[in-house]
Amino acid sequence: MNTLQSINYPIHFNNTLPELVKFIDQGNYSRFFILTDEHTARHCLPLIKKHIANLENFDVIEISSGEENKNIDHCVSVWKMLIGYSADRESLLINLGGGVISDLGGFAASTYKRGIDFVHVPTTLLSQVDASVGGKTGIDLDNIKNIIGTFTQPKAVFIEHEFLQTLPARQILSGLAEMLKHGLIADAGYWNVLKKSDLKDPSAELVYHSVEIKNKVVIEDPHEKGIRKSLNFGHTIGHAIETYSLMNDENPLTHGEAIAAGMICEAKLSNTKTGLSDWELAEITVVINGLYPKYNFDESCFDTLYGIMLKDKKNQNGQINCSLLPKIGECRIDNACMQDELYNSLRYYSAL
Ligand code: NAD
Repeated sequence: MNTLQSINYPIHFNNTLPELVKFIDQGNYSRFFILTDEHTARHCLPLIKKHIANLENFDVIEISSGEENKNIDHCVSVWKMLIGYSADRESLLINLGGGVISDLGGFAASTYKRGIDFVHVPTTLLSQVDASVGGKTGIDLDNIKNIIGTFTQPKAVFIEHEFLQTLPARQILSGLAEMLKHGLIADAGYWNVLKKSDLKDPSAELVYHSVEIKNKVVIEDPHEKGIRKSLNFGHTIGHAIETYSLMNDENPLTHGEAIAAGMICEAKLSNTKTGLSDWELAEITVVINGLYPKYNFDESCFDTLYGIMLKDKKNQNGQINCSLLPKIGECRIDNACMQDELYNSLRYYSAL
C-alpha cells in the first residue's frame, strides 16, 4: 500500500481496505454509515462487507445513481436517513461510489449537525483521480452544476484499483478525461505517456500519478484562490455542454465526455489567447477527438451554451473566466473570455 499526504488527511492506494477497517476501529465512532448507489451497492459493497465482517454498528444508505440525482432532494433523503438511524455527531459517513456519491455524501456529512466525519472510497476512475481529492463537496441546483457546496476535507481517502474491474468502459473513458487534463495543465511528460498507453485499462501507477498532480495543486491552494483554478481547464465550456446534454438528451454525456469536448474548445481558446501553438492544438484535438464520441451541436445551440456559462460559479464581475494553456504542460488562470471568442471555439469543435 502507498500513501500520499494531502491537506490534512492521507490518501491510501491499493490493498487499502484493511486500512479502512483500522481507521473505523481506531476512530471511536459511535456508528458508521455507508452511502452507495444501486451500482456500488451491487459491485463494491460486498467487498467492503467482507472486510468489515467483524465490525458492528453500521447501516447502508442507498440513493439512486446519476448526475440528475446530485440534488437537494437526494441530500434531504440522506439527512433524513441519518436522523432516522439516530446518527450523532460522532458518526462517520463512508462515501462508496463515484463523484456523485462523494460530492453529495461529502456535502450531506459536512452540513449534518454542523458536520460529521466522512471518508471517500472512490469506485470510478474519475472519482479516484479527481473527485475524491481536494475537499470540494456539492450538489447541483436548477441545472447549475455544483452551485451549492462546501470546502470540507475528508478524514481519509481509500483508492482501491480492484473496484475499476466492474466499471463500464464508458466510465473508464470518462475518468481518463481528467487524467489527460492533468497532463495538459501540469506535466507534458505525463501527457506523452498517456498518449501511448493502453487507455482502456489505465494502470494503478497512472492513477497514482494523476492523484499526485491533483494533490500537489490542492495542497498549494485549498480554496481555489489561485493555482487550483488550473484544474478547471476544459470545465467552463465542458460544464455548459454537460448541463446542456443533461437538459436535452435521453442518454446524457458523462462528466468526462463533456470535459473532453470542453478541453478541445478551450485548447482552441488557448491557441487564440495564450499562445498554444497550432501543432499543440492539432495534437490535443486529434488525441481527444480520437478517444471520445463527437457531441453534435450547431450554431443554434451557442446562445443556450453561453447562457449556461454566464451562470458558472467561477465567473467574476459577470466576466466568464477560463483556465487556458500557454503550452502543453502549463496553465494560465483567470483569462476573461469574450462572447465571440467562446463562440469561435464552439464553432471549431462543432466543425470537426
Ligand atoms: P458517477 O458517480 O455518476 O458514477 C458513474 C456511474 O458508475 C454511476 O452509474 C455509478 O453508479 C457507477 N459506478 C460507480 N462505481 C462503479 C463500479 N466500481 N462498478 C460499476 N459501476 C460503478 O460519476 P463520476 O464520473 O464518478 O463522477 C462525476 C461527478 O463527479 C460529477 O458530478 C462531477 O461534478 C463530480 N466531480 C467532482 C469533483 C470534485 O473535486 N469534487 C471533481 C470532478 C468531478
